[in-house]
Amino acid sequence: MLNFAVHLIAAKMPDKNYDFKIEKTTHSRLKEIDFDALQFGRVFSDHMLLAEFEEGEWKSVKIQPYQELAFSPASCVFHYGQAIFEGLKAHKTASGEILIFRPDQNLERMNKSARRLCMAEVPEEIFIDGIKKLIDIDRNWVPDGDGKSLYIRPFLIADDDFLGVKPSAKYKFMVITSPTANYYSGAVKVKVERTYSRACEGGIGAAKAAANYAASLYPAQQAQKAGYHQLIWTDAKEHKFIEESGTMNLMLRIGDQLVTPSLDAQTILPGITRASIVALAKNWGYDIVERKVAVDEIVEALNNKTLKEAFGMGTAATIAPIELIGIDGVDYELSDFHNWDFANKVKNHLEGLKRGKVADEFNWIQKV
Ligand SMILES: *Cc1c(COP(=O)(O)O)cnc(C)c1O
Repeated sequence: MLNFAVHLIAAKMPDKNYDFKIEKTTHSRLKEIDFDALQFGRVFSDHMLLAEFEEGEWKSVKIQPYQELAFSPASCVFHYGQAIFEGLKAHKTASGEILIFRPDQNLERMNKSARRLCMAEVPEEIFIDGIKKLIDIDRNWVPDGDGKSLYIRPFLIADDDFLGVKPSAKYKFMVITSPTANYYSGAVKVKVERTYSRACEGGIGAAKAAANYAASLYPAQQAQKAGYHQLIWTDAKEHKFIEESGTMNLMLRIGDQLVTPSLDAQTILPGITRASIVALAKNWGYDIVERKVAVDEIVEALNNKTLKEAFGMGTAATIAPIELIGIDGVDYELSDFHNWDFANKVKNHLEGLKRGKVADEFNWIQKV
């Protein structure tokens, strides 16, 4: 009871005013970048944010030139993997304004991931204001033009130099940004994975933890060797129910119903694109359900041609249409995605919103 009361008081306390130290670069690399040949995640803008947590509090917050950092070889992130991240984008509008999409949701999710991995939570002022200040300083790095954006990568790592197994007492929160073009806009071939698992019930699948990515590389590589782009993960217990596709959430249109696997088992990463698409579909009056989806049901829908659309949902590509699904050695082809009405409609709507071309009914957009 006492703990609960203390927690309430703590939650009501206004954010401490963090003193952002700002050190600007004296030689910008902006002119060296070919904005017509951007690859995802290869070049980084001039500045980065770095905040340090120790002795129970966030002590320093800096925006500084993008640079290499020194770590103790005993830093616990290298040994026990307390590392989580987020991903969002800044877009430039036709009039040159810079917009970001639902950063409050990234903050909430990062802190949910932090709690699951026993890490220090990042205050709103450092996360949201920090991102806005950083992008403001690097505003010339936000590319304009179709499909281009500034990818924003906030991440949190543990860096106590101690080899005992326990939650770290020291953390670094950083944000780096990278100008990017839509890195893949065609359709993908996916394979339903029946052996390996991305996440299990009781595990960390709902946290955006680096470890989930490490676990996914080998099975994804095997699928790529067999000619697929990505996997559709299934539940770890029976490999009967689909979960996600690669690093995106999944949506299917079976008959006239939109279906996406429910988040109940905590094995699926709760995507912000997914949540936004569910909200839009409901608002537009589509029949949409979040529930368990069996691989058998997909096979049946493929056989009787009722699987009308299937796509991944996530910040990187917004929507990645699926053109082929491999299930237990049989490859099933889907119809040409250019004719899918929901996937194209929702993609255009979300991309329009992010560029300020579509009315923002849900107040999802924030200006920098
Ligand atoms: C980040 C991520 C997603 C997509 O989340 P968005 O917030 O929509 O970008 C989906 N699945 C996994 C495993 C992820 O890490």
